[in-house]
Amino acid sequence: MNKQALYQPQPRYDVLRLPGIGRLLRWRWGRLLFQIPLLLLAALMIYDGLTGPQLAPQNIATTAAWIQYRGLIVLVLLLAGNLFCMGCPFALPRTLATRISGYGRRWPRVLRNKWLAIGSLFAIFWLYEWLDLWASPWLTAWLAIAYFIAAFALEALFAESPFCKYICPLGSFNFVSSTISPWQISVQNHDVCRACVGKECVNGSDTILGCGTELFAPQVQSNMDCLFCLDCARACPHDNVILAARSRTRELTTPGAWPRRWDLAFLVMVFTFASISNAFGMVPPFYALQAWLANWLPINNEAVLLLLIFGVGILLFPAAICLGAAWCSRQLSGTAGHTPLRVAFTRYAPAFVPLGFAVWLAHYGFHFATGALAIIPVSQNFLLDHGLTWLGQTPNWQMSAILPGSWLLPLQTIIVLAGFGGSLYVANEIGRQAHKQPQTVFKAILPWALVFLALALAALATFNLPMEMRGTIQFNP
Ligand code: SF4
Ligand code: SF4
Repeated sequence: MNKQALYQPQPRYDVLRLPGIGRLLRWRWGRLLFQIPLLLLAALMIYDGLTGPQLAPQNIATTAAWIQYRGLIVLVLLLAGNLFCMGCPFALPRTLATRISGYGRRWPRVLRNKWLAIGSLFAIFWLYEWLDLWASPWLTAWLAIAYFIAAFALEALFAESPFCKYICPLGSFNFVSSTISPWQISVQNHDVCRACVGKECVNGSDTILGCGTELFAPQVQSNMDCLFCLDCARACPHDNVILAARSRTRELTTPGAWPRRWDLAFLVMVFTFASISNAFGMVPPFYALQAWLANWLPINNEAVLLLLIFGVGILLFPAAICLGAAWCSRQLSGTAGHTPLRVAFTRYAPAFVPLGFAVWLAHYGFHFATGALAIIPVSQNFLLDHGLTWLGQTPNWQMSAILPGSWLLPLQTIIVLAGFGGSLYVANEIGRQAHKQPQTVFKAILPWALVFLALALAALATFNLPMEMRGTIQFNP
C-alpha cells in the first residue's frame, strides 16, 4: 500500500454511530432488513413477468426493473452509496452457499480482475437492445432468475464472492458509481487493528462471516469492490469499523487509492462510453445508423449489427481514444521516456467517473422523471387481476411523470455540465500531483480535457434528440 497516499475519512462522521440507524445497521440481521423487501419485490417481478400481462407498461417486472430500479439506483448512489448491493436479494443465499463452498476453493487467479465484468457489462447492454428486454416481462423475469442462479452457484463453488466482485454487471456499475459516493468503510483506530489477532473483519468468525469480497477494513481506501454489506462491522469484535463521510472527489484524487491496472481503467472507460452509447440507442440517428450499416455491409441480422455498433462504441472506440489520449498526454508533458503507457492511461482513469456517472444520472433520471408513477396503475392492475383493489377500481394509465417535461432538458444539461466540471477538476488534481510545473500540468491534462469535452457534447446532443419513452404507456399504448 502506498503510505504517502493513504487517505481515510475522519471517524467523527460515522453513520454506524448515529443513534438508531447506526445500531440497526450493525445489528447481526441488519442487512436482512434491506434484503427481504427487495427479495419480495424480485419474487413479485418474476411472478408477474412470467404470468402477468406481456405488455411492458402494464407489468411489474418491466416497469420496476427498467424504470424504477434504474432511476432509484443512480439517485441512491449519488446521495448515499452502494445501498443496492447492501440490499441485493441475489446475495441472500450467501450464508448457505458459503457453507457449501467450505470457504476454501479459490477463484482462478487469472480471472481475479475486471475483464469478465467488462464482458458482462457489455453483454447486458447488447442483450438489452437486441432482445428489447425493456419490452419483455417474460425475458426480464428470466434475467432475474438467471441472476439468482449465477450468484448462488458461484458463491457455492468459490470463496471471495466472485459473482459480486468479478462478474455481476449491476455490481460493477455500482462499484464504479460509488467511488463518488459520500460514505466509505474505514476504521476508528488503526492501533486496535495492529493489535488485533483474528482480523475477523475479513476472516470472519465461527458465527459471523467476514468481508465477502475480501477487503481488509483498515486498508480500504476505495468503494470499488465494497458491497456496503457491513459484514466487516458486524464481525469486528472490537467495534472498530466505521462508515465514514468523505469528500466526493477524495477517492478519485488520491494517488494509490486505485491500483494501476488496465482492467480497472478499462472498466471505467466502458462505464463512461456506455453511458452515451446506451442513450444513443434510443434516439432516431441510431436507427438510421443501423439501417445504413445493414445496407453497406450488407447484414440483416440485428444481433450482429448491434454487436458491431456496440462493440465499436463501447469497447474499441473508447480503447483507441483513451490510449491515444494517454499517448498524447505523455508526449505533451515530456514524460514519454519514463512513464509507461499503462501508467499514463490508468492515472487519469478516475477522472472519467464524474462525467460518466452524470450522463447515467441524466439518462436514467429522465426515464424515472417521466415514468416513476407508472408503478401505481401497474400495481393496481396486478391487484385487480388477482381479485383485490387498491386506490379505486380502475387503474389510471395516465399516471406517469413526476416532473414537468419542460424541466427535463435543462436539468439534464446542468447534470452533464456538472459532471464535465467534476472530471476536469479531478484530472487537474491528478495532473498537479504528477507534475510540478503548471504548464506541464496543462499539457498533460489537455488531451483528457478534450475527450471529456467531446463526451459531454455527445451526451448533450443525444439528450436534445427525441428519446423513446421505453416501458411507459405513452410509447407502447
Ligand atoms: S477485526 Fe476490527 S480491529 Fe481487527 S483488524 Fe478488522 S477492523 Fe481492525
Ligand atoms: S469492506 Fe467488505 S464487509 Fe465491509 S462493507 Fe465493504 S464489502 Fe462489506
